[in-house]
Amino acid sequence: MSNSLVLVLNAGSSSLKFALMDAQSGEAILSGLGECFGLDDARISWKREGQDKQEVMLEQGGSHHEKAVGIIVELVENMDVGSQLVAIGHRVVHGGEKFATATLIDESVVAEIDALSDLAPLHNPANVMGIRAAMKAFPSLPQVAVFDTAFHQTMPQKAFTGAISNELYTEYGIRRYGFHGTSHYFVSREAAKVLDKKIEDTNVISVHLGNGASVCAVRNGESVDTSMGFTPLAGLMMGTRSGDLDPGIIEFLLKKGWSQEQVFDTLNKKSGFLGVSGLTSDARGILEAMDNGHEGAKLAFEVFTYRVAKFISSYMITLDSLDAIIFTGGIGENSLPIRREVLKNLRILGFVEDETGNEAARFGKGGMIAKSDLLDAVVLVIPTNEEFVIASQAVEFTKQ
Ligand code: ADP
Repeated sequence: MSNSLVLVLNAGSSSLKFALMDAQSGEAILSGLGECFGLDDARISWKREGQDKQEVMLEQGGSHHEKAVGIIVELVENMDVGSQLVAIGHRVVHGGEKFATATLIDESVVAEIDALSDLAPLHNPANVMGIRAAMKAFPSLPQVAVFDTAFHQTMPQKAFTGAISNELYTEYGIRRYGFHGTSHYFVSREAAKVLDKKIEDTNVISVHLGNGASVCAVRNGESVDTSMGFTPLAGLMMGTRSGDLDPGIIEFLLKKGWSQEQVFDTLNKKSGFLGVSGLTSDARGILEAMDNGHEGAKLAFEVFTYRVAKFISSYMITLDSLDAIIFTGGIGENSLPIRREVLKNLRILGFVEDETGNEAARFGKGGMIAKSDLLDAVVLVIPTNEEFVIASQAVEFTKQ
């Protein structure tokens, strides 16, 4: 076993994903998920290397985040990893303009993350809860925050500035921040390795398609534009989120008597695949229903794949040349029909599918799935690994 293990914690508003990971190899010797926090059926499940999955319900009363961290501490102690555990790495959703890299956490950093809760009300308070619980449980270990937004801090001003009154930026910090940064960072580096190029010379468009979805243009290894914005609601159509829409619709609905909460709820939780299909937010369910002739599912599939292709092609203008388009995330890594349809929609750019490669790329196996002689570029599927980025950055930033 290696001597640098990192406990990676990814706290959501009602969940906590965790992994105990070798920071060099990325191998997880323990991983699990706490969910339904705040509800009667709050629970935590985990899997240790070579053992069956286990699950326990969390007691009611008090913070479920703290209870879950308590169980994780016990699990880690029972594994007897001792001094091999060198750091705790926290995924933090919003780092605002303050955090352009991962950061060693102290009280002032916790306060800064908390102060950014205004920008990510569902996520940052949960991240702070996770950090506080871990600081209490592991007081002698360094804790490092790895931000979803940090990778995008290299975007030029023209890409992050909204076409609105500049006062909204100076007064409230309203601008494009972008999310999924650790994923776009990871797959762009992996693509450079596949292409045998230096990351500083690599230009890609990274397409992360999961429940949340975003496109990122990476020029010479740096993010220069991305489709999520001030919040993770912007850009592509997603599982339950609308992505970009005419802001006039919000005014219209408010005038029709909708409450602010109803509008928020509809755009965040009842749109995307779920809203268009009227059936499900899950891409697998959409594909199955479409095969059975469900019209709503077919429309959801068409809107989704059309929009993904439209974003990819518009992001081409940020680059002087393109080395690769990368598909990642649950849908990008697994869904042959969705990738196939996106590629069809990109035919004007000369992309020709490699059917064997496309059919083989699934369940954690990546590969080359198309190429364009016109652009001298390939399309790759690369499984993402955000936990690995968090673990390796936790070790790197612990040393600073
Ligand atoms: P999150 O954004 O929550 O991390 P994931 O990256 O795990 O989500 O992606 C979840 C999405 O991936 C779901 O829509 C799911 O249906 C889809 N997905 C997973 N496996 C497949 C598959 N074999 N075929 C099509 N879609 C899949």
